[in-house]
Amino acid sequence: MASFTLHGIPVSRGIAVGRAHLLTPAALDVKHYLVAEEQVEAEIVRLQNAIATVHQELQTIWSDLPKDAPAELGAFIDVHALILSDPMISQMPLDIIRSRFYNAEWALVTQIDELSAQFDEIEDSYLRERKADIMQVGERVLKVLTGSASTLPRAVDDEQSAHMIVVAHDISPADMLQFRDRSFSGFITDVGGQNSHTAIVARSLDIPAAVGMFNATALIEQDDWVIIDGDAGVVIVDPSPLVLEQYRERQTRLFRARKKLGKLRKTPAITQDGTAVTMLANIEFPDDCAAAMDSGANGVGLFRSEFLFMNRTGCINKLPSEDEQFDSYRQAVVAMKGRPVTIRTLDIGADKPLDAAEQTALNPALGLRAIRYCLAEPQMFLAQLRAILRASAFGPVKLLVPMLAHAYEIDQTLLMIEQAKSQLRAARKKFDEAIPIGAMIEIPAAALALPMFVKRLDFLSVGTNDLIQYTLAIDRVDHEVAHLYDPLHPAILQLLAMTIAAGAKAGIPVSVCGEMAGDTRLTRLLLGMGLREFSMHPAQLLSVKQEILNSDLRLIAPLAKRIMRTYEPAAIAETMELLRA
Ligand code: PEP
Ligand code: MG
Repeated sequence: MASFTLHGIPVSRGIAVGRAHLLTPAALDVKHYLVAEEQVEAEIVRLQNAIATVHQELQTIWSDLPKDAPAELGAFIDVHALILSDPMISQMPLDIIRSRFYNAEWALVTQIDELSAQFDEIEDSYLRERKADIMQVGERVLKVLTGSASTLPRAVDDEQSAHMIVVAHDISPADMLQFRDRSFSGFITDVGGQNSHTAIVARSLDIPAAVGMFNATALIEQDDWVIIDGDAGVVIVDPSPLVLEQYRERQTRLFRARKKLGKLRKTPAITQDGTAVTMLANIEFPDDCAAAMDSGANGVGLFRSEFLFMNRTGCINKLPSEDEQFDSYRQAVVAMKGRPVTIRTLDIGADKPLDAAEQTALNPALGLRAIRYCLAEPQMFLAQLRAILRASAFGPVKLLVPMLAHAYEIDQTLLMIEQAKSQLRAARKKFDEAIPIGAMIEIPAAALALPMFVKRLDFLSVGTNDLIQYTLAIDRVDHEVAHLYDPLHPAILQLLAMTIAAGAKAGIPVSVCGEMAGDTRLTRLLLGMGLREFSMHPAQLLSVKQEILNSDLRLIAPLAKRIMRTYEPAAIAETMELLRA
């Protein structure tokens, strides 16, 4: 096959080289990882046992059928038993495990997808409808397999799985979480935008990714060699040996540069003119604190607590209890060893639904999400507030509230925090009485009504991802409007500057925790605008710190001012060049 190149949206930097592993939406619903060669036989036995169990189940159902049951019912069970015995189901997935080293669930889903595609092409409508039976049989086997999840074999070591590149139509943030413990070397998706939460999770994994490729899943084939240039958003399929060699060299150079950056871990982030900057980390799980500490972060500027609420459909109680949340928050607080941890209350909705199946709003990004949802579910919200407050007894915690726009939302939230505090007092549970409470500034209305916020709250954090989404009216997950995403749009810069200035005037800290804070191309502009707290993924922290160390506010501030005085994109771009020179 001839080499070809696809262009999309760069979302996570670096270069990945590996073989393509195509994932269908169904395949995303199950665990997928490679099993070690010596465990292939055990994995085959696991699938064979599951198939045998389903045979047994069908047998039991058959013999338990009441005498007066309709005859079709028996016939229906017979069909399922026949399908189960067919080599298409009983043999082919075993071959997939043998040849591709897929785990049993993945092998089964891959085969069912294949069969289902073949059935779609059948002319005879009766036969075509048998597809549903195959799906049902497959689901039964999957249920048995996932029920025995505790006996899952060990995945192959990182060395081997590090050469797999996932290619999918879409990966939801919840799906993406699956990849956290099974490392892959890169991600490519047909859809998605730069600031979708999927992209954000990919960045937090520090794995090259490119999204918005339109038709990557149609053009890339299983096991094709691919290169992802995560900085450019370019994917090269079946590269020539020469191109491959060039990218491998670049990969090595990047690796060396990163290693060198590691030396800055303990260096305080101080500009050439002596201005100190606070470097904070964004995390999704308490475990991420290790990476935050490794990067030398001064604390956690954003703990996206909603990730604790995802992928829990199998749990008896879908939401994590107060105690479970408390354990996670405390774990983060303890891991940060006295550095502040900013815990954001549940920011659920839009591209992070609690339950994708229940998502019915026409415009979820404008719907009952984040604080709106929390205020509509007071018991759930109180439980989270109590959990966060209790964690504050173990180290400095700040409480951050997303998506606030109205004064009464702030007041109601503050009232609920008071209520949670009095519940804890009554229960004689310890917490920090003076816990700082802050708001995300991520709705344009908030940035245009800052006095309302600074009067009521202790700190502000700008969520530029949503601020850009709502100000420029572009859905952050829609690749068709991704080209309109522009952090340098004068409207964004004005709102940002206003927020930083309002905080300075009121004497309350302002940070930026959206993706702009981790973009080294914007570091000097943000510094020049007066920003002194940056919060980003640990993986980005040292590059941004390096930029700060090389910056001099005496040179930067006048240029940032010049940018703020113009509304012409060309003039902004020109001054940005000077700023970065
Ligand atoms: C933001 O909106 O910029 C932000 C930091 O929050 P999230 O990306 O989780 O919406
Ligand atoms: Mg947001």
